[in-house]
Amino acid sequence: MLSAVEHAPDPRAVLRERFGFDAFRPHQEAACRALVDGRDVLLVMPTGAGKSLCYQLPALVRAQQAAGHGGAALVVSPLIALMEDQVQKLCARGLRAERIHSGRPREQSRAACRAYLEGALDFLFFAPERLAVPGFPELLAKRTPSLIAVDEAHCISHWGHDFRPDYRMLGERLPVLRGASGVPVVGLTATATPVVQQDIASQLGLKDEVRCIHGFRRDNLALEVVDCPPARRHALAAKAIGDADARPAILYAPTRKEAEEIAREYADEGLAVAAYHAGLPPAERERVQGAFAAGALEVVVATVAFGMGIDKADVRTVVHLALPSSLEAYSQEVGRAGRDGRPARAVLLGSFVDNKMHEFFLERDYPEPKRLRRLFEALDDTPRELDELRGLCRLGDATEKCLEKLWVHGGALVAHDQRVTRGHDRWQEPYARQRAHKETQLAQMARFLGDKGCRQLALLAHFGDDDQRGPCGICDFCAPDACSVRSARALSSEEEQWVQAVLEALARAARGGLSAGKLYQASLEGRGVDRRTFDHVLGALARAGRVLLSDEVFRNEQGDRIAWTRVTLARDDGQARPLSVFVPERDGVAKGSGGRRRKPRVDATWEAAPKALVERLKQFRLDEAKRRKVPAFQICSDRALLGIATASPSSREQLLAVHGVGARFVERFGDTVLALLRDNGAE
Ligand code: ADP
Ligand code: MG
Repeated sequence: MLSAVEHAPDPRAVLRERFGFDAFRPHQEAACRALVDGRDVLLVMPTGAGKSLCYQLPALVRAQQAAGHGGAALVVSPLIALMEDQVQKLCARGLRAERIHSGRPREQSRAACRAYLEGALDFLFFAPERLAVPGFPELLAKRTPSLIAVDEAHCISHWGHDFRPDYRMLGERLPVLRGASGVPVVGLTATATPVVQQDIASQLGLKDEVRCIHGFRRDNLALEVVDCPPARRHALAAKAIGDADARPAILYAPTRKEAEEIAREYADEGLAVAAYHAGLPPAERERVQGAFAAGALEVVVATVAFGMGIDKADVRTVVHLALPSSLEAYSQEVGRAGRDGRPARAVLLGSFVDNKMHEFFLERDYPEPKRLRRLFEALDDTPRELDELRGLCRLGDATEKCLEKLWVHGGALVAHDQRVTRGHDRWQEPYARQRAHKETQLAQMARFLGDKGCRQLALLAHFGDDDQRGPCGICDFCAPDACSVRSARALSSEEEQWVQAVLEALARAARGGLSAGKLYQASLEGRGVDRRTFDHVLGALARAGRVLLSDEVFRNEQGDRIAWTRVTLARDDGQARPLSVFVPERDGVAKGSGGRRRKPRVDATWEAAPKALVERLKQFRLDEAKRRKVPAFQICSDRALLGIATASPSSREQLLAVHGVGARFVERFGDTVLALLRDNGAE
């Protein structure tokens, strides 16, 4: 008689025979074992750590292991390019993988589905929005999968950095797919803080899941953070990548314009450099990416659009020319340096000025909840046009943004004819939380600028990585003398006295120490030393191991979270290092002139735009939206539409240069829009 349960194949043998790898990378084995055992798993590891293997290997093992769940693994993946890439890699290994997404002919998707149901596959990839297609989940559910993997799982979290409405139904539909036996589900992501981890687990309905949160420490990556005004940054960035062994390098610039400016400056100095941003024609982007990968370019100056597909192991330096919008983004971007394991450095040039910029965008992109409510209250069961709503709720240009957010959170419904009705009333809480989360991210990024402790430890704590190996020893906090941009010097005799005053005030305080503000009052304020200088002294004391600084949060009567820094005396354990202060980076420009202030640009106005053209563009947008059965703002925003009408571009390149227009839009609609503009000009 045949046994129902075959012997479980040895994961290590599968690793060698099916994937051709000699050994597991750190933490892969534990994740694989948990899934093989049927446990749910939440896997958070940085990009490139090898997360895919952690569901692919268990899927094969489970498929062989027992009769009953002989099916393929189901893999939910948000990006067509990612899916294609994975499928191709699996097929190259002789595995049977298929995919279902909107970029393929219906007949091929049907065939993929049939193959899955017939048991002819090892992996079936599909996009999350497929789950909304009536009958699709039920059809898949006819066969029990070996496991279900949700890639880029942060997209399901409302406060993940790019929440995707398509992921919404995932939590709802997963139980059908899991079936009665409850096959294991694994969520995979490179960026999730503890709050987001919790949210992913509950949205996916993970049960008693094993959490693998690992690999955020980078032993060969020295993090350096420089609080400096924008006017100093080009020069400091040049210093950071000045030595030949600091290159190849990636520089992240905050705007397309600045990326191009810097690339020109460096090219004049004879560097092999190019700019890269979403406003460049696809062919040029491909050329830059290829040239950098092949070593023909030493430096790429890019906006955050760069890096997704980059798999270059020998990047020696990553420089940020402004604060990123979150520590998650920062960590992902610096993670592109030193993949080969050799020493690499990441230099962050930033100041609170950058945060003001981010706050401005936050206000624009995440309107205050009360504005959304105004729109919500203007809605009822009567379908209305957007223009009508604009008049009704008097939110002006923000109407569209408010509608988009309401729609994402279910408070508004947009029909195929683009008319809007009221949705459910439960949008408020998730929206408020998403918005608050964005604010928190900005605050965390700003706090990272300070000199509080080892940079590596700060990142590990941020991600909830339980790595216990202590300070990194190579960041600007641990090794001030090794910095490439910051310069440290010994204390002046006056500074020595200030140090004494601070230590004495602290010695007089209770065991729990003092807040930095109180300590300032108790020590240097009376001596006429300004707060910024006090912070430098405090940083010097912390780096020398004489005091400990810790981030604390306090809730005031209104319930607001207020962050503060606690200062305590360090125990004298003989570990104290010599005191040094960093030479502050100052503007060099007289106070008040503010140097090169990057003010948000003033946008074009509807009044000034050619009316007939605006109407035609709107009609085009509406037609496309109807054809694709999506809300019009998914085709292009009002801001982009206005920009196109005002600039009236005559080539794809010029169209790309319009603010708010991306390469994807140009690829899909460029020719249509340009033809429309030409016709308009001919009249
Ligand atoms: P992630 O999804 O975490 O960003 P991937 O799963 O795409 O990373 O893996 C990154 C690379 O590492 C891939 O090229 C993959 O083949 C390789 N890789 C994964 N696991 C191993 C291993 N155990 N040994 C060698 N290479 C591996
Ligand atoms: Mg991946």
